[in-house]
Amino acid sequence: MKWKEQINGMKAYQPGKSIDAVKREFGLDHIVKLASNENPFGSSPKVHEFLAKESFNFALYPDGYATDMRAAVAKHLGVSGDELIFGNGSDELISIITRALLHPGVNTVMGNPTFSQYAHNARIEGAEIREVPLKEGNHDLDAMLKEIDENTAIVWVCSPNNPTGVVVEDAPLKSFLKRVPKDVLVVLDEAYFEYVTNKNHKDTISYIHDYPNLIILRTFSKAYGLATFRVGYGIANKDLIAKLDPVRGPFNNTGLSQAVIQVALQDQAYIQKCREENTKGKEQIEAYCDEHDLHYYPSDTNFVLMEIKADSDVVFQKLMQRGFIIRSGNALGTPGYIRVTIGTQAQNEGLLAQLTEILKEEGVFS
Ligand SMILES: *Cc1c(COP(=O)(O)O)cnc(C)c1O
Repeated sequence: MKWKEQINGMKAYQPGKSIDAVKREFGLDHIVKLASNENPFGSSPKVHEFLAKESFNFALYPDGYATDMRAAVAKHLGVSGDELIFGNGSDELISIITRALLHPGVNTVMGNPTFSQYAHNARIEGAEIREVPLKEGNHDLDAMLKEIDENTAIVWVCSPNNPTGVVVEDAPLKSFLKRVPKDVLVVLDEAYFEYVTNKNHKDTISYIHDYPNLIILRTFSKAYGLATFRVGYGIANKDLIAKLDPVRGPFNNTGLSQAVIQVALQDQAYIQKCREENTKGKEQIEAYCDEHDLHYYPSDTNFVLMEIKADSDVVFQKLMQRGFIIRSGNALGTPGYIRVTIGTQAQNEGLLAQLTEILKEEGVFS
């Protein structure tokens, strides 16, 4: 068959191992998954109450324009409905954006390591990928600017960056946006926006009025604890949204998802509480790293990329045997590190206790 040449040899996305898979493989009853940056507290109890009492007609197609969810998100953000585009997770928005702008002959600029889906989608479209090494876990924006030329179509800024957790502060971000050519789309992926505590980072939404070539991506999969519902959104000026919208598939958010998002948005106290718990958990993990002289990146997310001074795959495997799923740095372009999602206090304690034993076995701790 006449496959695109670049499809040959490509692998499907390798997600964090699932709880069921690990239960089966190791015959364990109790597994803690701290691998995919899901909210360890789940979603707002209001969502569960809503799902228990409502009934739905599953035979009907959902509202393809997501009118009510759009209005609710627009109100929450203080933007207008035509400044939003919804995706089946922000993953789908990454693919919509890529499909709309990339093809053989153009290039796209991104950090390295960063979220793997930017390069993955660019490869499918046959575009040239220009990866710029991070500097101390952060995007090297000056170096990225130097990579932009007349054939650059998209530049990706993942902030806070996955897998390092480091956020781009306001001043460097603004200076970067000012200097990017107006015909290059800047994608600012803020999947972890709700977890950011850095005082030098404020809400970036107002930037869409100053920079017509900017789209901000956010999601309900992380802090909102609704990954299963697959809702992410892009925020940009309305002309940019109007160009992207025809590339979006019809009915790309389920009716159930659209309803649930509206309920979840109303419980901002829950998000606030999760943010506070997350900050405590982050301090717990950082204190462990400090105590054991393990390097980590300053995280503005619900995960920490930490050094282990041992083989990442070995530590990953041994943690899994002991009931904890994390991500090996080898899979994320950061060998010698592991990425752990910040769990509940008890989950973090359990994880760190097991890690201590493993690092003793590996001869890292005496
Ligand atoms: C998790 C994640 C996403 C994908 O989120 P979905 O909305 O669930 O598709 C996008 N970008 C980054 C940086 C992520 O970490």
